[in-house]
Amino acid sequence: MTDIKTTPTNFIKNIVNEHMQTNEFGGRVHTRFPPEPNGYLHIGHAKSICLNFGIAADYAGLCNMRFDDTNPSKEDVEYVESILSDVRWLGFDWEDRLFYASDYFEELYQYAVGLIKVGKAYVCDLDAEEMKEYRGTLTRPGIDSPYRRRSVEENLDLFRRMREGEFKDGERVLRAKIDMASPNLNMRDPVLYRIQHSTHHRTGDAWCIYPMYDYAHPLSDSLEKVTHSICTLEFEDHRPLYDWVLDALDAYHPLQIEFARLNLSHTVMSKRKLRQLVEGKYVSGWDDPRMPTISGLRRRGYTPGSIRDFCHRIGVAKANSFVDIALLEHCIREDLHIKARRVMAVLKPLRVVIENYPSDSVEMLEAEYNAENPELGSRQLPFSRVVYIERDDFMEEPPKKFFRLAPGREVRLKHAYIIKCQRVVKDEATGEVVELRCTYDPDTRSGMSGDARKVKGTLHWVSANHAVRAEVRLYEHLFLKEDPEADEDFKINVNPNSQEILSDCLLEPGMAGAAGGSRYQFLRQGYFVADPIDSQDGAPVFNRIVSLKDTWAKMQKGAGNK
Ligand code: ATP
Ligand code: MG
Repeated sequence: MTDIKTTPTNFIKNIVNEHMQTNEFGGRVHTRFPPEPNGYLHIGHAKSICLNFGIAADYAGLCNMRFDDTNPSKEDVEYVESILSDVRWLGFDWEDRLFYASDYFEELYQYAVGLIKVGKAYVCDLDAEEMKEYRGTLTRPGIDSPYRRRSVEENLDLFRRMREGEFKDGERVLRAKIDMASPNLNMRDPVLYRIQHSTHHRTGDAWCIYPMYDYAHPLSDSLEKVTHSICTLEFEDHRPLYDWVLDALDAYHPLQIEFARLNLSHTVMSKRKLRQLVEGKYVSGWDDPRMPTISGLRRRGYTPGSIRDFCHRIGVAKANSFVDIALLEHCIREDLHIKARRVMAVLKPLRVVIENYPSDSVEMLEAEYNAENPELGSRQLPFSRVVYIERDDFMEEPPKKFFRLAPGREVRLKHAYIIKCQRVVKDEATGEVVELRCTYDPDTRSGMSGDARKVKGTLHWVSANHAVRAEVRLYEHLFLKEDPEADEDFKINVNPNSQEILSDCLLEPGMAGAAGGSRYQFLRQGYFVADPIDSQDGAPVFNRIVSLKDTWAKMQKGAGNK
């Protein structure tokens, strides 16, 4: 997988290059991917994963997998397991370096004791409301907590008793003693530890005080000898605190570098919001094929390679921006264009009887799988007197540019013959077209000498007696608006038609046993994957990954012409 080995040049690599030249960190590059196990990973995390593992690989360095599991009330092993399997599926390997911030709880506690001893941390009894009041605002400096001048002995005693469970949730906290007048609110004596009597998914009830992210994170990085601690832009204002914690303890000091998080059009990204979609039943679960989660994208049929390709193309910058979801779709088309077998599937069938074809005859037609990739080989397709074509491929009164089937018109059935529509059969009551009566031209079989005769339209089809019935699901964007978060309640922008389920589709016979997860192009309809969960042998269920219309390529072409 060469694409893992080199990531494009970006400002972070420039920093690393400089460090390599100056021998900062002794020529080492050591990164980490540090998710909180409070939900499933999404495509934004994929950007961070590709960046952290990619940079490590580029410099023959290491990347750790680390769970930032410092908030037991929101975290769960279910999430730990899904995160690990998602990172692995994306193609990355942390080898034996799987860590948990909770592994460091004892060390972090001892460091906190150290801070108290040098007068850099104190136990504070203000409640949340008071603490907020004392903190001040961007325009008003904070004021010192009345507990700020507690003696070292008293602080040590209280902190120990916090740990031992003597106090209730929220009754006391441990705070850093920094500067209540700092223009950076994060530096106004931030909380380092809070009391929380809840069971942790790894440490059980061993602890009732838990470290805050801003305290646990720099120390976890430090303990793991990380060199470049890469995080998203919202942590820029937290960097002084990151540095303060490590300097106050005279600990090994990685460099925190911030980059812009990925925002994708027509979707939301934060785990908190994705959870609302799951809990509000807007989707069937975290792995619903419409979700921007890694597990959703996997179920939708995206390949790991296409997601890595996407992460390469969007690059890494310092300014927040939106990426068009059409680029993600473009990447999977590019990946499958040559690789996928192209088969015939009629999604909304219309019956066609070929009147001059013998009723007891079945002919096997040779059909290559992908004209652009002969290596994929070919299969034999049965052709017979009754076939199905796509309902949309017929119009009784066609407009000028409609080159498909219409009364008196001819089209080619792909890999087969030219047929001509002679008559339309309608439901007497409703007037709906229920069947076409056609004739075929026996001299026009594909691949034979008669192949030379040309007509304007070529349609996909299946033989009625041989077709496999299947459920096919078509998807549209989960949100109608490009930026669903522009409204206070992003959920009002959910697309009510984001999923269309077609239960009477007909596929060519070879598709009966399509393995869950296998990907195809359905000719003229798009790329599809056999749903890895719902698909069964003999009763396949397919998800449309993307249609064939590449809006991204079109936009690029348009931009190039200007
Ligand atoms: P969320 O709001 O989705 O929970 P988070 O930042 O709280 O996101 P973490 O589990 O803490 O989620 O994230 C792990 C890593 O992934 C962090 O380094 C974080 O900066 C990065 N990350 C999260 N979201 C994005 C994104 N949209 N683009 C790029 N990186 C991201
Ligand atoms: Mg989070």
